[in-house]
Amino acid sequence: MTESRNYKSELAAVFGHPVAENPTIVMMEAAFRAAGVDYRYLTIEVLPEDLAAAVGGARAMGFRGVNLTIPHKIEVIRLLDGISENAALIGAVNTVYRRGDKLLGENTDGKGFLASLKEEGDLDPAGRSFVILGAGGAARAVSVELALAKAARIVIVNRDEGRGRALAERVAGIGGTKAEYAAWTPGYRMPEGIDVLANATSIGLYPDPSRPDIEYGAIRAGMVVCDVIPNPPRSSFLKEAAARGAKTLDGLGMLVNQGAIGFKLWTGLEAPVGEMRRALAGEFGDA
Ligand code: NDP
Repeated sequence: MTESRNYKSELAAVFGHPVAENPTIVMMEAAFRAAGVDYRYLTIEVLPEDLAAAVGGARAMGFRGVNLTIPHKIEVIRLLDGISENAALIGAVNTVYRRGDKLLGENTDGKGFLASLKEEGDLDPAGRSFVILGAGGAARAVSVELALAKAARIVIVNRDEGRGRALAERVAGIGGTKAEYAAWTPGYRMPEGIDVLANATSIGLYPDPSRPDIEYGAIRAGMVVCDVIPNPPRSSFLKEAAARGAKTLDGLGMLVNQGAIGFKLWTGLEAPVGEMRRALAGEFGDA
């Protein structure tokens, strides 16, 4: 044999519990194929009590990257060598990447939302006013990134008052952005002067056909309305908004954009975003 050969693939994975229905593998494998890199993506069931051993294993085996999903996004932090400023503000890590012998944590959820807003919505959040429905992990990631991007005002609307107020306080603490909590009473009507309305709750996620209980008549033509729900991409929330002339951005775009940031951290290459979106849309029956 004269040529040297390389039979070793680079590895990335998602750790979760439950994890079997997580579709990230579909967009990541499509991205690796399109970019022509020899990477493999694995969907791995990791119990909470095994997270430290699993991260140790990924470290020992030289994994290029790991995504974390329920219930590991917070617990993983203490197992890493460092995390980004925005992940620290959000208090959760969804993407781990390797630099030398260090494993570092990032949160790409809110950044994926921002990328959709800028690239698909053609909207710079600086100086704009937002209503965010929800105060869970997705709402926290989105609101923190909006504040870091110098949004003028963020109204957090949540069913649970304690969670809603806590998020408004966290966002207000970033500085520069006015943040307030508003109670979610049935038929909630957003205030005047809002540029972007985002559903960051789990309402409407397949197979739930419902939509947030708000006054849809308050949506003006030209307003940007976003949903974090990736499946179905055309949620009933977005259909109502589009019928009132709003520009709509779906959660599939956010999911692809957050994955694209991870892809770049792992491979050093720009992500083939179109291929990733096509692969996932096919999975959600919306190709
Ligand atoms: P959490 O469980 O952390 O938070 C859920 C939020 O939804 C809470 O604010 C909760 O309110 C609210 N909520 C749920 N049901 C209702 C209801 N019936 N009425 C009013 N409020 C309700 O979940 P996450 O934030 O982690 O995830 C939320 C969604 O975001 C998921 O569906 C997930 O698919 C999606 N997501 C999408 C991403 C993407 O890239 N597109 C990335 C991350 C998440 P309360 O506090 O009152 O209980």
